Amino acid sequence: MFRIDLPSNDVPKKWYNINADLPSKLPEPKSSEGKDQVGDLPDMLINECLKQELSNERYIKIPKEIRELYQRMGRGTPLCRARGLEEKLNTPAKIYYKREDTSPTGSHKLNSAIAQAYFAKKEGVERLTTETGAGQWGTALSLASSLMGIDCTVYMVRVSFEQKPFRKSIMQVYNGTVYPSPSMNTEVGRQINKETPDHPGSLGIAISEAVEEALADEKTKYSLGSVMNHVALHQTVIGQEIQTQLEMADDEADTVVACVGGGSNFGGAVFPFMKDKLKGNIDTEFIAVEPAACPTLTQGEYRYDFGDNIGFTPLLKMFTLGHDFVAPAEHAGGLRYHGMNPQISLLANEGYINCRTATQKEAFAAGQMFAQCEGVLPAPETNHAIKVAIDEARKCKETGEEKSIVINFSGHGLMDFKGYGSFMDGSM
Ligand SMILES: *Cc1c(COP(=O)(O)O)cnc(C)c1O
Repeated sequence: MFRIDLPSNDVPKKWYNINADLPSKLPEPKSSEGKDQVGDLPDMLINECLKQELSNERYIKIPKEIRELYQRMGRGTPLCRARGLEEKLNTPAKIYYKREDTSPTGSHKLNSAIAQAYFAKKEGVERLTTETGAGQWGTALSLASSLMGIDCTVYMVRVSFEQKPFRKSIMQVYNGTVYPSPSMNTEVGRQINKETPDHPGSLGIAISEAVEEALADEKTKYSLGSVMNHVALHQTVIGQEIQTQLEMADDEADTVVACVGGGSNFGGAVFPFMKDKLKGNIDTEFIAVEPAACPTLTQGEYRYDFGDNIGFTPLLKMFTLGHDFVAPAEHAGGLRYHGMNPQISLLANEGYINCRTATQKEAFAAGQMFAQCEGVLPAPETNHAIKVAIDEARKCKETGEEKSIVINFSGHGLMDFKGYGSFMDGSM
């Protein structure tokens, strides 16, 4: 089978919450002492999302309306065999890729955006604020908000805003209001603009701006596209679908590979498998791949840190490069975040996740090979996962192992002209 389709009837009916099965108790978010302007989570987050964030229930039912929107927006997504790539590598390994790029906005992010906009609307919220790096999350939340009839304000990291002006237009098409961050709308933005006029921005700063707005107005809530546990929870439809599809193909995963920025696509693809691994039922290897320029899991520290740049958010126990970290302006915009999802951090710290890095050029070279063999152009973020999947398939060629390797294909690269352009003309 080259392509395993999942009928929309078989879209999962619940999200899987790994809090119920973690090998040790997850450290809770903490307020920071000695700071005067600390936002409490209940003031900034959608109530239902906060409830899910702290829940220990193993399965959380997906409301019927959300499941219907998942179906209308293209779930289940196909699981494909990368036969061309296997042949090119002359490997005995089987390489699968889960096509989250088939979502209308081109990445996995809509899975959480739909859930968050739905809960917000139900709670009487009139506007969501958020940050976006590369633009994927802002696009997904703009669409989801439009589907729910609420407003959406997006703070877009300035370097991405300038590198990817077309992304802004797409968000506007979906009724999003987009500002380059640091902006002049918020105290935080004005301060940074005063000190450093050409500041490239960072996800941390954009989060601070979006949070500041949410704290200032009761009908406005702040919505996150990654990092938090409830976001990874919503993404677990991906891993559950992969499990069903592998069963349909009469196969089992030896390795699951995904890129990590804040960890939501990795968590979503891996947690349902991790459940079985923690019970000792399977021996699947899980590989998280991050950019060498933002090596949170491989070189960060496991400690409490802020989710944003300024220190508005409560502290999360996670791998971090320090909340004032500003990643170099490279193209894998969606992976340039200083912190990491707390559940993934705990599992990585206890040795359940194999963490690797890929350089930008290695990642793009892998993406080009993939595109030439399979036709689909991967997102720059996804390229990181592909790079390591190719390494693993090459190892199989040496050892003769017929491993089944699953790539979570988090998004397509059809809006990443600039990155592919500089890779192809050699200026990267
Ligand atoms: C946002 C994004 C990522 C990184 O976010 P995670 O929360 O780490 O998954 C990866 N791939 C694509 C295509 C994205 O849009």
